[in-house]
Amino acid sequence: MLKGFTRFLQSPGAHLKTLFGPHEAAGGVTAPRIIPRDQHTVSRQHFSEAALKVLYRLHNAGFGAYLVGGCIRDSLLGKMPKDFDVATDATPEQVRELFRNSRIIGRRFRIVHVRFGREVIEVTTFRGTHNDDHADHVAQQSEQGLLLRDNVWGSIQEDAIRRDFSVNAIYYSIADFTLHDFANGMQDIESRTLRLIGDPGIRYREDPVRMLRAVRFAVKLGFDIAPESEAPIFDMAPLLLQIPPARLFDEALKLFMAGHGVETFHMLRHYGLFAMLFPEADEVMAELPWAEALIEHALASTDKRIQEERPVTPAFIFAALLWGPVQRRQTDLCATGMPPVPALQLAAQQALSRQLQHISIPKRFSLPMRDIWDLQLRLPQRRGKRAAQSREHPRFRAAYDFLLLREAAGEIDPGLGDWWTAYQESDGHEQQRLVDKASSEAPTGRSSRRRPRKRRRRSSPGTS
Ligand code: ATP
Ligand code: MG
Repeated sequence: MLKGFTRFLQSPGAHLKTLFGPHEAAGGVTAPRIIPRDQHTVSRQHFSEAALKVLYRLHNAGFGAYLVGGCIRDSLLGKMPKDFDVATDATPEQVRELFRNSRIIGRRFRIVHVRFGREVIEVTTFRGTHNDDHADHVAQQSEQGLLLRDNVWGSIQEDAIRRDFSVNAIYYSIADFTLHDFANGMQDIESRTLRLIGDPGIRYREDPVRMLRAVRFAVKLGFDIAPESEAPIFDMAPLLLQIPPARLFDEALKLFMAGHGVETFHMLRHYGLFAMLFPEADEVMAELPWAEALIEHALASTDKRIQEERPVTPAFIFAALLWGPVQRRQTDLCATGMPPVPALQLAAQQALSRQLQHISIPKRFSLPMRDIWDLQLRLPQRRGKRAAQSREHPRFRAAYDFLLLREAAGEIDPGLGDWWTAYQESDGHEQQRLVDKASSEAPTGRSSRRRPRKRRRRSSPGTS
C-alpha cells in the first residue's frame, strides 16, 4: 500500500512538489510561555489512568511526554476531557516497543494507538518542518498546497506551530506539570477565541478540513472564530472537494453527532461549507421549503437524544439530509410514468451514489437509510395485515420517527403520525378498530398523498 503511494508521488503525472521551502515555518518557532503548576488549573485528576500510564512510561524511558490538544483545552475550560492525545519525541517505533498493547496506524500521519480495554490513547511523534532532502520522502504536498503526507519528526516547538488552533497547541508536561503555550493559546482561551496558527490561507490550503474543525470547535466551545481565521473560509470552502470521501464521513459524524447539530448546520451553511459536503441537499433547500426544516428537526431531535444520553444513529441524520434530493428525484421519475415504489428506489440509489462522491457512507448506514425511506411509502398502507407487518419491521421505529419529522417540517399533512402513535399504544382489539377506520378512509389502501399525475393523462379529453 505504502509502496504504491510512494510510486504515485514520484510519478511525473502526480503534480507534486516538495513540501515547503526553508522559510515556510517562519512566522515563528517561538519559545513557549511556560506556566508553572501553581498558576494553572489543569490537574492529573482530570486525566484517565491510561493516559497517565502512557505519559509516565514514556517519561521513565527518557522521552519527553506531553498531553496536548482537546484534553488540555477542555480541561482549562473546566470540562472533563474524554480522549487523550499524547505528544512525544519518541518515534512511532520506539513507542511501539514500549507498549505491547499498541499499534502503528495511519499513512498520512503515522501515529501509535495504545489500547487499554476500550480506551485508546493516541501517541503522536512531534512533527517538524520539511526543509532538507530527507523530507522529500516523508512529506509531500500537492500543487494546490494540500498536505498529502506529514511524517517528518521535529521539536516540540515545530510540532506546536503545525497544529491547527492556538488553543489546541498548549502542552502539559508530565515531567513537572507545567503548561507550555506556544501560540498564545491561554490568552485565546480567556477571550474565547478560535485562532488558526500561522497564515490562514496557507493553513486551510494545507488541510481544508481545518475549516470544518473551525466550525465544529466554535460551536462546541462557544468561541468566536478570529476575524482573520474566519474571512478566508467563504472563498476557500470549495477546497473541501479535494478531501477523500472517507475522511469527510468521519468529519461529518463529528459535526452532526456531537450534540450541537442544529447550530453546526447553520454555521456550515453560513460559510458555504455545507454545499461542499452535501451539494444536492443544499440545492434542494432552495426549491423545497420543507427540506431545510426537515434537516433542522432531525438534528434537533438528535441533539436532544444526545443530551439525554439516548442512542443515536448516523443513518437517521443522513436519511434526513438526503430526503430532499430523494424526493425531488422521485417526483421527476414519477412524472415520467414510473410508479412510486420503483421510483423511490431508483431515486434513493441515484441520490446516494451522487452523495458518495463527496462523503462515503458505509453500507451499515446506507442500508438502514434506504429502509427508512422505503417505509415512508408503506406506512400509509394499513389495510389487512399491512400495519402489523410494518410494525414488525426492524426499522419501524426509525421510520415512524422520520414520518413525524416530515409532518413537523410541513412536507406532508399531519394525521398519519398520530394514527401510528395510537396504533403503537393500543392492544389488539383497539388496533383492529384503528385499521378498520383507516381502511374505510382510504379504501384503496394507498397513500393518501396525491400521486403525481401521469403525463399522458393531461392530454386526455375532458381534462383540459
Ligand atoms: P476533540 O478530540 O475534542 O474533538 P481535539 O482538539 O483533541 O478535539 P483531535 O482531532 O483529537 O481534536 O486532534 C488532536 C490535536 O491534534 C488537535 O488538538 C490539534 O492540535 C491537532 N490536529 C488535529 N487535526 C489537525 C489538523 N487537521 N491540522 C492541524 N492540527 C490538527
Ligand atoms: Mg482529541
